[in-house]
Amino acid sequence: MIHYGHFIGGKHVKGTSGKTADVFQPMDGTIRAEVDLAAPDEMRNAVLNAAKAQPAWAKTNPQRRARVMMNFLGLIAKHNDELAEILAREHGKTIPDARGDIQRGVEVVEFACGIPHLTKGEYTEGAGPGIDIYSMRQPLGVVAGITPFNFPAMIPLWKMAPAIACGNAFILKPSERAPGVPMRLAELMIEAGLPAGILNVVNGDKVAVDAILDDPDIQAVGFVGSTPIAEYVYTRATATGKRAQCFGGAKNHMVVMPDADLDQAVDALIGASFGSAGERCMAISVAVPVGENTANELMKRLVPRVEALKIGASTDVQADYGPLVTKAHLDKVKSYIDIGLEEGAKLVVDGRGFKMQGYENGYYLGGCLFDNVTKEMRIYKEEIFGPVLSVVRAKTYEEALNLCNTHEYGNGVAIYTRDGDAARDFAANVQVGMVGINVPIPVPLAYYTFGGWKRSSFGDLNQHGPDSIRFYTKTKTVTSRWPTGIKDGASFVIPTMG
Ligand code: NAD
Repeated sequence: MIHYGHFIGGKHVKGTSGKTADVFQPMDGTIRAEVDLAAPDEMRNAVLNAAKAQPAWAKTNPQRRARVMMNFLGLIAKHNDELAEILAREHGKTIPDARGDIQRGVEVVEFACGIPHLTKGEYTEGAGPGIDIYSMRQPLGVVAGITPFNFPAMIPLWKMAPAIACGNAFILKPSERAPGVPMRLAELMIEAGLPAGILNVVNGDKVAVDAILDDPDIQAVGFVGSTPIAEYVYTRATATGKRAQCFGGAKNHMVVMPDADLDQAVDALIGASFGSAGERCMAISVAVPVGENTANELMKRLVPRVEALKIGASTDVQADYGPLVTKAHLDKVKSYIDIGLEEGAKLVVDGRGFKMQGYENGYYLGGCLFDNVTKEMRIYKEEIFGPVLSVVRAKTYEEALNLCNTHEYGNGVAIYTRDGDAARDFAANVQVGMVGINVPIPVPLAYYTFGGWKRSSFGDLNQHGPDSIRFYTKTKTVTSRWPTGIKDGASFVIPTMG
């Protein structure tokens, strides 16, 4: 069996806490690996290692830091098959989807290759007599990232690439459910030329997270995961004076207007709701057709498509989606089907009976489709994070918009329409951070920023794009004067430039 320890100071080290967790292989329900769970002193050791290595890395010129990122890109490309296989085996998503997970992370590494440009300061010559002003961006020191199970490559890369390129040392605490890819990425970073101690992977659970939150030498924490933990991490990290950006759960709506191309809308819904077994923070989990006719026509097309979903093992490249991540999560998702039925929603497609031949112990669930869901129901209000789509029928566009705006989450949203006016109004007025117009999963590209609104995000700055550079650096502004020949004596009023 595979054993994951930690990656500290440029090498693998065994855990010393005596605590471990099983890493499952969701496609057949076997135990694939065992992962050490760090005690606080192991986290502290990683932080001290990182703090020792960081000043020299910060002084390494940005072009050289960028070159490490470029080498890293080459190595990820070279090992893409291997990474995708580990990812699919530990997470459960299919290999093509695992490649997408890696690719969306790679794009942020590509962005980080522009670090010499991205960290350039500003300069004003002659801001006053003999006075020049300039600003510079300096790294924070040691920073940490805590990441979820559902994107084992993408989200660690979103965190580590900008943080490290900016000159910080980075501690990654990946999900204990899928640590294989993060551990491999750390090895590849070292192979790419990153000095030892700049990227450390410390595996663990709440104990390791709390050790990060309380560590006096960690300057910033980036978190991605469920909303209750995001809020907890944000509160505790900021209480100890750290910068924090914490991204949480979601309930993403797709509004389908009466004029939408329904075939296109159904294609979009099927992929965005059921891809990766619905275990994406940008998955569509609520469809909102506007008008009874739209709803009826949509359902007519949607039902056979949900019934025809091809569920398969993670290694089956023909499958639409694979198993869920763990048996515990599968049970939780199934419990929401019971809740929905108790609440009076109409279960039009019931995937609970699905059995995967040859993989009877895997964590599979067929596609589930609820109609006549209302906004009071728990299946509407709560994040299910599985292959379950709820249809909430709205009478008007205003009612549909209001649903999106009053939901506690505000991560992603989409509208399907051919009406530019409606689309423009929606984009302007919807209270959600990432909006798709005839685009079902509007994850912004690496050079824009990613982040939700309301209880999908805690903190001010988004992930990747220009915000990531702001998050991982602090600005210093220098006002300099070379007052040759100027003698203006002491002044007791606040300086102005006249
Ligand atoms: P999770 O909150 O269970 O775990 C996330 C991280 O927090 C893991 O590293 C885990 O070890 C740690 N953790 C778990 N419980 C903790 C506790 N009690 N105290 C301290 N740390 C704890 O999330 P998950 O199940 O791994 O991931 C799925 C969730 O992540 C979903 O809610 C999904 O919407 C969300 N997500 C959000 C985004 C986004 O950008 N908004 C992206 C991906 C996933």
